[in-house]
Amino acid sequence: MHHDSAWIRDFMEMVEAATPGEPAFHQAVGEVIPSLDPVLEKRPEWRKARILERLVEPERSISFRVPWVDDAGEVQVNRGYRVEFNSAIGPYKGGLRFHPTVSLGILKFLGFEQVFKNALTGQPIGGGKGGSNFDPKGRSDQEVMRFCQSFMNELFRHIGPDTDVPAGDIGVGGREIGYLFGQYKRLTNTFTGVLTGRAVEWGGSLIRPEATGYGCVYFAAEMLGTKGRSLEGVRCLVSGSGNVAQFAVEKLLDLGAIPVTMSDSSGFIHDPDGIDRDKLAFVKDLKNVRRGRIHEYADAHPGVEFHATDRALDHNPIWAMPCGAAFPCATQNEINGIDAANLVAGGCDLVSEGANMPTMPEGQELFREKGVLYAPGKASNAGGVAVSALEMAQASSRTFWDRDEVDRRLRAIMSSIHRNCLDAAEAYGRSGDYMDGANIAGFAKVAKAMMDQGVV
Ligand code: NDP
Repeated sequence: MHHDSAWIRDFMEMVEAATPGEPAFHQAVGEVIPSLDPVLEKRPEWRKARILERLVEPERSISFRVPWVDDAGEVQVNRGYRVEFNSAIGPYKGGLRFHPTVSLGILKFLGFEQVFKNALTGQPIGGGKGGSNFDPKGRSDQEVMRFCQSFMNELFRHIGPDTDVPAGDIGVGGREIGYLFGQYKRLTNTFTGVLTGRAVEWGGSLIRPEATGYGCVYFAAEMLGTKGRSLEGVRCLVSGSGNVAQFAVEKLLDLGAIPVTMSDSSGFIHDPDGIDRDKLAFVKDLKNVRRGRIHEYADAHPGVEFHATDRALDHNPIWAMPCGAAFPCATQNEINGIDAANLVAGGCDLVSEGANMPTMPEGQELFREKGVLYAPGKASNAGGVAVSALEMAQASSRTFWDRDEVDRRLRAIMSSIHRNCLDAAEAYGRSGDYMDGANIAGFAKVAKAMMDQGVV
């Protein structure tokens, strides 16, 4: 990996030596640190106070046993985690992920990114992340409920509406938040805003399910706006078919774009006619209700190709489809250097990340070199957590905003994140670079708060 200065190399070596076996965490830290070189140049007092050394160490990490009984009466054992990364600007806030690949290192990468993202939203929220290696795929509702209850039986002692407020992420949607909330309420005998992503009937906010996907498309529109362009008529590649992908597609349709792909871990569909509202409704039912696989979209719609995932390939063919813009909304490391080159060759000059860290360092380097409008997830997918903060505000003040009000606030927040990224990049000589801008703006706010609060 290429680093500008010796201190960056030394710092990364220190992090890697201190946290063996956490490559995704090293990757997330390695993406941020080089952006901060010009900031620390101007702020030697931040270096002296060891702000960076403190930032890479979570304030607290919890790991615990989650035993539960499946439908066949067999005992199952999973591992649960909560990484409470940084509370300099507010209570820990960040999602829970249920996926077989979850490990401490994965959650540390996500929690670290969350600290910067949450600062960028302008809302008073610190960063955290949690989850379990539990795989909800193929499990009955009853099994998911029993797992969630057992998970909460330990997690409840670490969280609270003013301490740590989890939400959803991969594998954790409305169903799981419901079961988790029910068990928290029962254990503590309190009805509070301890989780976000709740249904509107029991304390949730309108637009929270939509917020990450909508926000990611709003951010893309902001980037294009700086060039006097719009998404109207632009063919768009979207990966994933979960919460973020579904609402990214919905907002793309609102703005006149033509989404042509969606995916899951088994493969992707390419619909040259475009995924319209009826087809999107099919995907929502398929994924949220029937919990089926994406190939069923191709089975149900003539003219649509399904490409099965081929793990032997050195690239992901979804990114080789011609397009004007790409919205990776599935998972980390889904765009490598070859994929990035394929995107650019296919005409793509905008990438707005709905997922966290979907682009690998070689891909990021290529996008920046080729002048692609490239928005890193910590900026472009911040709409979800921003509306979670609005959900917290509504819950604690016992008010309820209508859809237009929340959507208006979401749009304003995405616009201000976009502006802050550009301003921060400009101020530190990295004009037009959204990745440096996001890292710098997020860091500056957290570092200032940490300085104010002393060595804690
Ligand atoms: P969902 O569980 O709703 O959907 C995840 C989608 O990505 C599914 O289509 C899933 O397919 C696919 N996917 C997951 N893991 C893999 C994998 N290893 N390989 C290929 N495809 C995979 O999750 P979300 O939509 O909530 O999250 C998507 C991304 O957005 C994540 O990176 C998440 O961290 C990020 N994010 C989410 C936010 C939110 O508010 N929900 C906020 C900010 C970021 P399959 O079903 O086959 O596993």
